[in-house]
Amino acid sequence: MNKNKYPKLVVDLKKLRHNIDHVLIKCQDQGIEVAGVIKGCTGLPECANQFALAGCRYIATSRLEQIEEARNFGVQSDFMMIRIPMLSEAADVVRLAEVSLNSEMKVLEALNHQAGLQDRRHKVILMVDLGDLREGYWDKEELLQAALRVENELYNLELAGIGTNLGCYGAIAATPEKLNELVECVEMIEEKIGRELEFVSGGSTTSYPRVLEGNMPRRINQLRIGEAIILAKDLQDLWGFDMSDMHQDVFTLQAEVIEVKEKPSYPVGQIEFDAFGNHPAFEDQGVHKRAIIGLGKVDFAFADMLLPRDEDIKILGASSDHTILDVQNCKHDYKVGDVVEFDLCYATIVYATNSQNVDVVYI
Ligand SMILES: *Cc1c(COP(=O)(O)O)cnc(C)c1O
Repeated sequence: MNKNKYPKLVVDLKKLRHNIDHVLIKCQDQGIEVAGVIKGCTGLPECANQFALAGCRYIATSRLEQIEEARNFGVQSDFMMIRIPMLSEAADVVRLAEVSLNSEMKVLEALNHQAGLQDRRHKVILMVDLGDLREGYWDKEELLQAALRVENELYNLELAGIGTNLGCYGAIAATPEKLNELVECVEMIEEKIGRELEFVSGGSTTSYPRVLEGNMPRRINQLRIGEAIILAKDLQDLWGFDMSDMHQDVFTLQAEVIEVKEKPSYPVGQIEFDAFGNHPAFEDQGVHKRAIIGLGKVDFAFADMLLPRDEDIKILGASSDHTILDVQNCKHDYKVGDVVEFDLCYATIVYATNSQNVDVVYI
């Protein structure tokens, strides 16, 4: 196979390690452990390994396949399953992960049963839904009863803590007040079981602003962080935090130019439907120099979310396997065979790392 094959995703492991170390230190200073979340880059084992080498307490992901791959690669760490498990995967959750997030008694019973069969003790963190309306107990009494049941009856499980997730579905902000609701829940449970819980898991990247601002409620002692480490973009672009001490170019997507021509900017003929059944609109800007690269929606899903490093490039659109660039105003004279580089965001990196067509190389 051709070694110099495009598209290519270049991963700078030193920059990744810098970002991991940086977030770990900031969190440690406030008594917070970091579970390093690797699902954003589809669990690339070399990346997972950097989290382990940096000393993350757990490596976390939403997919068991990624945990298995990391283990097979030789990543030395404990692992956390952060998507509440399917009933059908209970055996593998116990086999592959030391701890999992949970919100259903039927699954907890299955985990307990499997842990017994495998002669293991599996830690569980009960999830509390504080209003984002994805996973977690909504009813506080149900939460308490679940905690008591795990504590007193499910002997192969260890009630390790409670957790929450914010800003994923309902776009709810992880304010100090919201996170204090989680602290109230943990105190309610601790009072009834008569001991302190190990983890109060306060969320993901969306909770990291509390660390940056120094207003995290004191009982929160764990965050599960992916995006703020691997991309470090959302908190800057969406929330206005200064992330300039982080590398935002750990990942570079490279694609090869396969056609360069001057063409009209307005399609010629009767406009009906594009490759995905949309009825597109165009602006006539006259004849422009355009380049096509060998990369398409199959590889990144959202053309408007690709970020060309050459700021004079405009992305016109894409179909499954072609992406069309307006290079009219570029200082560089693009030619067939040139390589164009892009920064990625969370939405595009998950696709790029899942695409079989994108070769991953490490520097
Ligand atoms: C994805 C996920 C995270 C990490 O999210 P980031 O935005 O990458 O920090 C943490 N917890 C849960 C439950 C998740 O699903």
